[in-house]
Amino acid sequence: MKVKLIRYTPDPERLVAVAARLCYSPVGVEDLDEKLDIESARKLVRFVIKSGHHSTTEHIYFSFGIEGISRALSHQLVRHRIASFNQQSQRYVKFIENYEYILPDSIKNNKKFSDRFNNLVSETHEFYEEMVNEGIEAEDARYILPNASETKMIVTMNARELMHFFTVRCCNRAQTEIRELATIMLKEAKKVAPSVFENSGPNCLRMPCPEGKYSCGNPPKASDFDA
Ligand SMILES: Cc1cc2nc3c(=O)[nH]c(=O)nc-3n(C[C@H](O)[C@H](O)[C@H](O)COP(=O)(O)OP(=O)(O)OC[C@H]3O[C@@H](n4cnc5c(N)ncnc54)[C@H](O)[C@@H]3O)c2cc1C
Repeated sequence: MKVKLIRYTPDPERLVAVAARLCYSPVGVEDLDEKLDIESARKLVRFVIKSGHHSTTEHIYFSFGIEGISRALSHQLVRHRIASFNQQSQRYVKFIENYEYILPDSIKNNKKFSDRFNNLVSETHEFYEEMVNEGIEAEDARYILPNASETKMIVTMNARELMHFFTVRCCNRAQTEIRELATIMLKEAKKVAPSVFENSGPNCLRMPCPEGKYSCGNPPKASDFDA
């Protein structure tokens, strides 16, 4: 999987802090913006996040370029409604020479099933190729392709949505591939906005695990999500 933070709101921590300060200040935006140094901004960001004033984090956006993920993962990802997505099309792109698929580690490490898996995907793809070569539209031929098919996306979320995404998808109870993606995204976001994402990750970083009898019993530490 290849994940890159390709764009983000410039000076994100200061923007969150300015938004927060504006709420409680009699002076104008420009004045607030000019007078705010980064350490004061970070202090304020930590405060507003801890106090639950999370609307201030909606002003900052992060766009990720994501490649080498399965369609099984992308289907889970697009369930997050407060995000923007673009995905490589299986209607307009014909996957002939360039067809790739994702093999989960649990199957890769199982000789009995990995051989069968690879053979079936290979046979399925040959059938797809034959259909496309004989004039079936890619948009119809693709119905035979598996969830394992590789896809590429650009995903943009604001920090509030990202924090929610990290809560549910960095959890050990989340599915393995999306957990790997969310963990890389958190590490990338933390590099550029450390105070915003300082305590981001599964619920158990901030409170007792809410999963009850389904708890993994192996909670991570916030530093596990440092780059
Ligand atoms: C471990 C795990 C297992 C899952 N299993 C299944 C499953 O078996 N079947 C299945 O269908 N899905 C499953 N899901 C997906 C899950 O139901 C959600 O669709 C997905 O996690 C998106 O999260 P969300 O709806 O909280 O947040 P987002 O869509 O990311 O939205 C963020 C927040 O905005 C608010 N919000 C967004 N839209 C609305 C709205 N219309 N009304 C009110 N508030 C809104 C909510 O507070 C929401 O939490 C699973 C998710 C996880 C993490």
